[in-house]
Amino acid sequence: MSAQPQTPPPAPASWHVRAAELAIEGRAFLDGRYLDAHDGATFDCVSPIDGRVLGRVASCTQRDVDLAVASARRAFEDGRWAGLAPARRKKVLIAFAELLLKHRDELALLETLDMGKPIGDSLKVDVPGAARCLAWYGEAVDKVYDEVAPTPRTVVGLVTREPCGVVGAVVPWNFPLLMAAWKLGPALATGNSVVLKPSEKSPLTAIRVAQLAIEAGLPEGVLNVVPGYGHTAGEALALHMDVDVLAFTGSTRTGKRILECAGRSNLKRVWLECGGKSPHIVLPDARDLERAATAAAWGIFYNQGEVCTAGSRLLVHESVRDAVLEKILAIGRKLQPGDPLDPKTQLGAIVDRQQLDTVLDYVESGRDEGAKLLLGGSRARVETGGCYVEPTVFAGVQPTMKIAREEIFGPVLSAISFTDVEDAIRIANDTIYGLAAAVWTRDVGAAHTIARRLRAGSVWVNNYDGGDMTVPFGGYKQSGNGRDKSLHALDKYTELKATWIDLEG
Ligand code: NAD
Repeated sequence: MSAQPQTPPPAPASWHVRAAELAIEGRAFLDGRYLDAHDGATFDCVSPIDGRVLGRVASCTQRDVDLAVASARRAFEDGRWAGLAPARRKKVLIAFAELLLKHRDELALLETLDMGKPIGDSLKVDVPGAARCLAWYGEAVDKVYDEVAPTPRTVVGLVTREPCGVVGAVVPWNFPLLMAAWKLGPALATGNSVVLKPSEKSPLTAIRVAQLAIEAGLPEGVLNVVPGYGHTAGEALALHMDVDVLAFTGSTRTGKRILECAGRSNLKRVWLECGGKSPHIVLPDARDLERAATAAAWGIFYNQGEVCTAGSRLLVHESVRDAVLEKILAIGRKLQPGDPLDPKTQLGAIVDRQQLDTVLDYVESGRDEGAKLLLGGSRARVETGGCYVEPTVFAGVQPTMKIAREEIFGPVLSAISFTDVEDAIRIANDTIYGLAAAVWTRDVGAAHTIARRLRAGSVWVNNYDGGDMTVPFGGYKQSGNGRDKSLHALDKYTELKATWIDLEG
């Protein structure tokens, strides 16, 4: 894969200038071209940076989804993609990844304008991360072998992987491009056709990259994009009789709904990457409390706390509580929300007014239930017309409080102290979620034992949010099923076929 662009990011003012000049494409992408929704319906795409309407986006509904699925089905059945040798698909996926990098600035700008994350993060994390994912699956797919079963000599037993067919991918708004790439990489690499439904809150990068995929050599119809609302476009995909797999990332509530839709329609395979309320445990023997506290701060404030794996529950040993909280507060005080288009900004805007209100309601409930507000808790930069909230820290939180139990999806940390490590493990696991957890200790035995006992898909020891494409990612319990990333993700998009050949028959 070619290197990332060498040019340094432009100076702050130029991102505003470029934003003003940016052409916004809001139409659906069907059979290789941009199209309005069949009835011409649109919705406003509003930037959380300043409330400005960026453009109008096609509001796809059942009929558009039908057309997109039919297009994907045609593309799948005639073998224009599924029929290619894996090495040919690899070339296209790598070219697709390179085009993402070539258009890094434009895609990063779209992502930041659309969902409010700092431009520096979009440039350094989201766009290169999405490109890395597509290239990784491209690189992998011509190195994965099928199996020959250990049968008697009179039989050949083949175990082969085949693409499932048409994949519906429904993704959220917090990492719009990256979450789409986590689905597109393995689904396309294995030969499926995809109908992608981005969140109505952040549809722009998905719409844009569909055209880059064609430029990279992906045949028309293999990737269609249907922007629209969840209850219309999303549900139409989930209920569709001709969608074979529904790969979803989003809230647990929507995940349950999608499972019901699969049950009511064709029993399509449903893969769910849902919410979390991840515990971040700091034991008193952590080698470097300062590092642990810094990780705890970034574990909740990064991406405005709009991260499924956000370490939203800090379980800190009573004896080191004050030291750890002091450091987190110091980071939080410095980390005030800023202009997302300024490359120096580290905390951007909350995705929209609705999510901002949700976060502020949780702050209110924390206060009402008697938690101690140590930092933040208010709306910020109101004069911009955008949606910003201060980094917020509650201490004295009881595990029964709403802010300790429900996913807030904002920069709000709930600190719970403990004296007995058994209590910490019990509290950590006392949640409907099981996406991630972390523990800081210098005791290798304790690290292994606690990691084993934490009911979560990812456990980080002496770090937070570590990992790359080589390790699987997904949840226990109501955080979902199946795994994104790594070769394990191929299981989501392939059927295993057993072919039993009787050599004497
Ligand atoms: P959401 O569930 O509201 O929406 C996610 C997607 O589902 C959107 O595209 C939405 O339009 C669509 N949708 C909504 N209702 C639908 C329906 N009835 N049928 C079909 N589709 C429907 O979630 P969100 O607010 O966009 O994202 C935040 C959530 O995503 C959080 O809970 C977060 O933890 C989770 N998330 C999880 C992961 C992970 O990998 N586990 C990663 C990122 C985000």
